[in-house]
Amino acid sequence: MKHLQVTGPANMIDDLVAPLTVRAAEIAKAHEDYTRDRCVGQALAERLAHGSEGPLDDVDKLRYQPALIVTAQDIVEYSPRFAATSNGSVLTPGQFVEALLADTGWVLVYDEHNTPTDLLPIHNPRLATEEQRIAMILDNPICAWPGCPRPAHAGQAHHLVARKNGGATTMENMVMTCKEHNAANDDDRQGLNGHLERDDGSGAVYRHPPSPHAPPEFNLAFPTALAGRAYSGYRQRE
Ligand SMILES: [Zn+2]
Repeated sequence: MKHLQVTGPANMIDDLVAPLTVRAAEIAKAHEDYTRDRCVGQALAERLAHGSEGPLDDVDKLRYQPALIVTAQDIVEYSPRFAATSNGSVLTPGQFVEALLADTGWVLVYDEHNTPTDLLPIHNPRLATEEQRIAMILDNPICAWPGCPRPAHAGQAHHLVARKNGGATTMENMVMTCKEHNAANDDDRQGLNGHLERDDGSGAVYRHPPSPHAPPEFNLAFPTALAGRAYSGYRQRE
């Protein structure tokens, strides 16, 4: 048995629950390997994180972070930051939660004396960390797609080798793009949009056109030419 407790005014709870079923079904369709619990949990986490209109202030950011309570009953053998769960798998509490619920948030672990013993951040290893995002924005403040002027801070961390193809969530394998070009990128190298790659020499990212014989297309925009990587290259040539 798993329990997820949400407390709040009735209208807030009604608001929260109504769209969950629909969204959970969408998630289930997109991720056949997800359990039903995970789909509902993910739908709830999305709703909590994005349910408020406009930008969240610091208080709201904290309020809307999903958290999961893991009790001694869920865990057969517990030691700080390491646990064997009651279904027999040996996981860190963070992995346990990741397998069950949301991509981000917190997990509070209780021991058999009902004492809180661990508060752990949940971080999905498939998502870029805040630090990686900041570094990528300094590296290039606009979308990496040639000709695109959209700002990187409003964009997404794009995996050069897609996660589904084994690409790692590392600085080497990621670059900031806008949402549209993250989606347009031809992850499987079979479409007509081309795909982003990293140049072995300079480390700069370019668009590889769909034709194998076409030359690479670098983003030559002014902000890119003045950003961290370009400046580092300039200093090396000095
Ligand atoms: Zn773009």
